[in-house]
Amino acid sequence: MLKGINASEGIGIGKVMLIEEVNLEYEKKKITDTQAEIERYRNALDAFCEKTEKQAENIKNTVGEKEAEILLGHLLMIKDPGMSSSIEGNISNGSCAEEAVEQVCDMFIGIFSMADDELTKQRASDIEDIKTGLISTLLGKEEVDIASAPAGTVLVAKDLTPSMTSCIIKENIVGIVTEIGGKTSHSAILARAMEIPAVLSVDNASQILKNGDEIIVDGSHGEVIENPSVGEISAYKDKTLLFKKEKEELKKFLGKETVTADGVKVELCCNIGKPDDADAVISKTGEGVGLFRTEFLYMDSTSQPSEDEQFEAYKKTVLKLGDKPLIIRTLDVGGDKDIPYLGLNKEDNPFMGFRAVRYCLNRPDIYKPQLRALLRASAFGNIKIMVPLVTCLEEFTGVKTLIKEIMADLDNEGIAYNKDIEIGVMIETPAAAVIADVLAQEADFFSIGTNDLTGYTMAVDRGNPDVAYLYSPFQPAVLRMIKKTIEDGNANHIPVGMCGEAAADPLLIPILLAFGLDEFSVSATSVLKTRKIISLWSKKEALEVAKKAMTLKTEKEVVEYLTSVAK
Ligand code: PEP
Ligand code: MG
Repeated sequence: MLKGINASEGIGIGKVMLIEEVNLEYEKKKITDTQAEIERYRNALDAFCEKTEKQAENIKNTVGEKEAEILLGHLLMIKDPGMSSSIEGNISNGSCAEEAVEQVCDMFIGIFSMADDELTKQRASDIEDIKTGLISTLLGKEEVDIASAPAGTVLVAKDLTPSMTSCIIKENIVGIVTEIGGKTSHSAILARAMEIPAVLSVDNASQILKNGDEIIVDGSHGEVIENPSVGEISAYKDKTLLFKKEKEELKKFLGKETVTADGVKVELCCNIGKPDDADAVISKTGEGVGLFRTEFLYMDSTSQPSEDEQFEAYKKTVLKLGDKPLIIRTLDVGGDKDIPYLGLNKEDNPFMGFRAVRYCLNRPDIYKPQLRALLRASAFGNIKIMVPLVTCLEEFTGVKTLIKEIMADLDNEGIAYNKDIEIGVMIETPAAAVIADVLAQEADFFSIGTNDLTGYTMAVDRGNPDVAYLYSPFQPAVLRMIKKTIEDGNANHIPVGMCGEAAADPLLIPILLAFGLDEFSVSATSVLKTRKIISLWSKKEALEVAKKAMTLKTEKEVVEYLTSVAK
């Protein structure tokens, strides 16, 4: 059995189709007629853009608009004046078109792959994709024809680039296995959107697996079984049926209210990263957006998105949502989220450093355009502003003061915005949880970010496997932080939500209901399951379970107890 990252759940049983890399070797020639070479490059660029647009159209029709934008993003990158003029500049200096493309792409790949966070690193794989596409167009070479894969195919590749993924005919591909990529890589996002089971980061998969081999891809557990026995195939077929049945059954929660078994209503929202993610919120019947991570707008661009670009993105999102609430978190840069052009210095301890609201308050040149864009977009729907990584009152009041100043400017300029816009605090540091009673007097709402709250409370770096055993929201210390935050919010009559991953954890849900959480914000794919789990618990039962759980002294005891009472 081969192990990898469980990137898209479900089980696929089928035959391997190896996607081998195209041979991109070329002769490095010194160019004398540079104008003719620039023309050759421009023709190849046009052909590449035309092909990419067609692929994007195909993926838009078969998968969705959001996924098509990954490919359209390639066009934006290659048409970026910085990139194209560098390529043409290198040709003018005598490089052949292939070499110029390679040099410039490699430079960008170098910059992006040095980033600490996975999302920025992904930009490197996008540029790699552009490089391969452009050089193979220049060389007149065809890439592997994924579109012709027969039914029951498992695609196995070093990396499945977005352009390869765009050729997938969903009905024919039962699984995906790659050697690189993580849960947030584009191949993972696309695989999930197409609901194809995928296991990524399987070492040497394209050497171990051979064309035509029968394999099982268990995307839920990150396992690949080569040449399975008859018994294994039949066992996995049973699991597939069960998985499909569960998914089908969840559909009955589409469009339903989110209520406990004894009729207590809570709000069930979604976490998103891009305007088009709002489509999945609607299709999965999420009741709004509890967290829009705006960093993605910044990460998808090679320079700071302008106020107008941001305004358009926020307006587009809120218009898609109709009257549903949209909580937009202001720029949460730093820590694991580096954005090269924002000029953050390398720090020994970036999680403790100059990040999120600390950076924003220090850089009004960066922060003000975002706040202005948010306020302007608030004229078009129910937008709320959320401030990340608050640790003390002045940080939050500092943001509120800045917002008031911007409101005065907008008034002077006669620009519309929602004067009563709600401004909330993300509770994701122990400091904020401890002074939640103080913050609640200034904030219109709270949202608990358990991803960071767990890390900071337990003093654990999530990326460090040696201490990963401590990283759990079931640690009594974390549970107490959550309880206090909700109680302080309730006492001050402000709603409290949770947008960390823990909000969708079936074991934690009864505890959160008991504490009085008002809003759960989960990924769109978790909406129905979360709604189901909430419906299985009565508030009364949840209160009993929470009472007992809070007397337990260790994480192990808490998890064992919650597992024993799970529904
Ligand atoms: C969190 O910290 O829980 C959170 C939702 O924010 P992020 O995962 O973006 O840091
Ligand atoms: Mg966070």
